[in-house]
Amino acid sequence: MSINNKLMEFLDKSHSNFHAVNEMAMILDEQGFTHLENNQAWDLSAKAKYYVKVNNSSIFAFDLSDYQAGMGYKIVASHTDAPTFKVKPNAVKIVNNYIIVNSEAYGGLIDYTWLDRPLKLAGRVIIKEDGKLVTKLYDSKKAVGIIPSLAIHMNREVNKETKFNRHTQMRPVVGQGEEFNFKAHLANSLNVSEDAVYDYELVFKPLEKATYVGFNDEFVASNHIDNLQSAYVSFEAFINSKNNGSVNVYASFDNEEIGSMTKQGAQATILRDILIRISDYFKLSNEEHLISLAKSFIVSADNAHANHPNYLEANDENHVVSLNAGVVVKYSANQKYTTDALSSALMQELSKLSGAKIQAFVNRADAPGGSTLGAISGTQISIMSVDIGLPQFAMHSSMELAGSEDSQHMLDLLQAFYNCELIVSSDSLQVKA
Ligand SMILES: [Zn+2]
Repeated sequence: MSINNKLMEFLDKSHSNFHAVNEMAMILDEQGFTHLENNQAWDLSAKAKYYVKVNNSSIFAFDLSDYQAGMGYKIVASHTDAPTFKVKPNAVKIVNNYIIVNSEAYGGLIDYTWLDRPLKLAGRVIIKEDGKLVTKLYDSKKAVGIIPSLAIHMNREVNKETKFNRHTQMRPVVGQGEEFNFKAHLANSLNVSEDAVYDYELVFKPLEKATYVGFNDEFVASNHIDNLQSAYVSFEAFINSKNNGSVNVYASFDNEEIGSMTKQGAQATILRDILIRISDYFKLSNEEHLISLAKSFIVSADNAHANHPNYLEANDENHVVSLNAGVVVKYSANQKYTTDALSSALMQELSKLSGAKIQAFVNRADAPGGSTLGAISGTQISIMSVDIGLPQFAMHSSMELAGSEDSQHMLDLLQAFYNCELIVSSDSLQVKA
């Protein structure tokens, strides 16, 4: 199956970031990876492959095949979360016999794109089972809500710039009636009693599946393309590669969209701790561990902005980024992206080796642009790094658009990264295919 078709299946199964991590964990189980727990001793073997989850919303995998003490790490990092509406604890509000769900925005979403779309609800519910509070995945499996627009007849100004009040105007309507017991509904769906349901983290997501768009299927449209496209394609590159003189690591953090400052986000010490635990297990001294980090390289993979044909002025005219023109290497003078001349040179070398196309992105000098997880992760662990991503339109819309050829370019580039022998020093890099 093509990487695009696999990506679209993955997008459809990833009803929430908890579901995305669960999907990846199931694939790792099938691929012979051992599931480690952070609260237990790790009994590692120099021939085996492992993964660990944090909060069930971020996931880290590493391959120790052919491990020899002191090897560097080759890491690709991405994020699992996306902007959405998250249900508040007191979820239900009745307005004129309509059942409204009280929710708040998570991350920087484009409000109007969430109007008039059938929405499903998904995430995790905490229930009491055999005396323990445990996590259960929940997915409404059908559209349960919608945020209807106000008719143009009642707002003639709507096609001028319209702002929405998220507290009063962006509330999903989920039914009619004088009351609705939300916890009872969750309990019923999970086959438990109502008093077993303690709490939940549930978000709305468009019901529409990922689809090709274009007379020649040039594009892929879906919710959550940022950043599940980079997360999934780099995951495929990881599981289909072999270590070659370093340890291959896959990392996908939660909470990039709200600043990464959580226990499962890129600003946590998780990745650093995982590498320390590997070194500790193989009895590396502190200095040997630091030497292995100095031999390491991290690729931060998060989607990027292509030049929009209707808004050409939004991008730097001298750095035209196009859909279906390959992986984007992101630059920022202020190091919002970690790319430097040496780390970008590695992407060029891997592009030549693999045939994967790459293109450069820089924000306009008069636009601040966004940031991503590379620079944040770099505050916890000092490793040579580059920021890349796949080009897309409509970032943070409820329906984003990517090119259908770009996933293959990233897969080829990152497989070349994971498969090569990479010799890193502070002022030079050498790639041996
Ligand atoms: Zn992103």
